[in-house]
Amino acid sequence: MIPSGIFTTRSEEETFQLGRDLARGFQGSETVLLVGDLGAGKTVFAKGIAAGLEIDEESGVCSPTYTLINIHQGRCSLYHIDLYRLEGAEEIADLGWEDFIGRAVVVVEWAEKLPFPIEGIRVAIEVEEGDTRRISISA
Ligand code: ADP
Ligand code: MG
Repeated sequence: MIPSGIFTTRSEEETFQLGRDLARGFQGSETVLLVGDLGAGKTVFAKGIAAGLEIDEESGVCSPTYTLINIHQGRCSLYHIDLYRLEGAEEIADLGWEDFIGRAVVVVEWAEKLPFPIEGIRVAIEVEEGDTRRISISA
């Protein structure tokens, strides 16, 4: 079950758990579009998704900022993508989306940079006071 709605988390752990709970219901072909500023908690949420897919913690889900795409294997495959460093629309288009969208769980950080629409579950994280985050999930 995808818990669509608006959630408030008050720690990194709570954001992780929200991502994990979301992904526990995944079949293996979902796309998650993560939107939010630097330090909002996108990577924390992505780590939760990995946990929900039963990806070992040793597999080291981290920010793929330098590698662009990290692939992990759990009960299904996870493609973890970060568009932060990509400049042009062309560079983003060249990632080979058609090879994995709909064929694996795909998590995109900085999805607002996508130059073309991709259907998916949109997760927007906003920083509030201190460690509080407002997370809106819409399928
Ligand atoms: P992003 O990938 O969006 O740039 P990260 O997930 O790498 O952000 O980092 C989020 C940072 O914010 C971490 O240092 C984390 O400990 C901190 N943090 C504090 N409160 C929260 C929260 N409620 N949810 C997620 N991260 C939080
Ligand atoms: Mg990140």
